[in-house]
Amino acid sequence: MRFDWEKIKSNLRARIQKIKSQNQIPLIDVESSFGEVPFYVTDKTDWFTKLELMNAHMDSLHIAFIALSPEKRSLKIKDENGKANFDFGLSWGKLNHKIYDLGYSWIMPNGIGSQPEPKFNAQEYRSHMFDEILRDHYPMMGEFFFRHYPSQDQIQVNNIKDKSDYNTPIDGPIGEEFFAFSAAHDIPLQIHYEIEDKLLPALENILGRYPKAKIIWAHLARVRKPQLSTIYGANWIESMILKYPNLYFDLSASAIDNVYPPGSDTYISTFWNRQTRHLQEDWKKVIAKYPWRFMVAFDLGSDRFGVSKLVGQVNNSRKILQEFPPEIAEILAYKAAWKLIFKEELTF
Ligand SMILES: [Zn+2]
Repeated sequence: MRFDWEKIKSNLRARIQKIKSQNQIPLIDVESSFGEVPFYVTDKTDWFTKLELMNAHMDSLHIAFIALSPEKRSLKIKDENGKANFDFGLSWGKLNHKIYDLGYSWIMPNGIGSQPEPKFNAQEYRSHMFDEILRDHYPMMGEFFFRHYPSQDQIQVNNIKDKSDYNTPIDGPIGEEFFAFSAAHDIPLQIHYEIEDKLLPALENILGRYPKAKIIWAHLARVRKPQLSTIYGANWIESMILKYPNLYFDLSASAIDNVYPPGSDTYISTFWNRQTRHLQEDWKKVIAKYPWRFMVAFDLGSDRFGVSKLVGQVNNSRKILQEFPPEIAEILAYKAAWKLIFKEELTF
């Protein structure tokens, strides 16, 4: 069974129109994910129940849709007989179809997001993934962790083996596979790439080599280790926007008072002014000047999936949007994402 993309698109468009007719600003979330068996929850996690519970809130939160990406990695999973198997993350497309068949109008099936370099069968995993993206005509790919520090939650859990401390050189052969694929097929790719001086030249290198690759760099202005970051800021972002016409950013920044690591006093969302509780002026200016390069993302996934996280992320996103006049907020909220995903401009 294939996705009916015309039908999906017309459903999503209808949701946007409906929310607009209620004089609200619809939100498109370009980056959320679900895992069949994330590594630090039990294998009884029932994603279908979670989706059903979230479904009840989608209209009242004025959410147009969520680009929902599986985050399967090389995992031991159980088959129907309860026997453990390694499936090497190869069957994620089936999960997407299962969820699609549930018929939620607010889900846009999205390509997988995960480690670019899983522990087992990495090459097979990637080639299968690229084939599946093309076969099912996904308009976008999920978030790939090229440099990923353990998250706040992962740091606090002791009994997990994989704390997502990943490092795959973005301008090495594996990064090249992703950027070349995005450029060749005009399919946007999301990257997780921590903000650190020494990582920036590699990103510029690969962006320069693949100017047609469409890249969404997740978590704008979230600097987890500020002592390692002196270059990144609103001015630097503007220079990147001018140099790389296909570089985009998602606004799944951390909330104003988030710290890293947990318990420290290092505030990581660097575009907020914590005194005034508003965006810093230079950040506000650069976002307002190039709104088509920025888009909303909830970053739900793994341990952050469900109604309360959804409500929190919607609040965070709306707090950012409130900083801008409505015509800019609308671009950030849904118009830029629609244009990037479907390569057409919405007229409403
Ligand atoms: Zn991320």
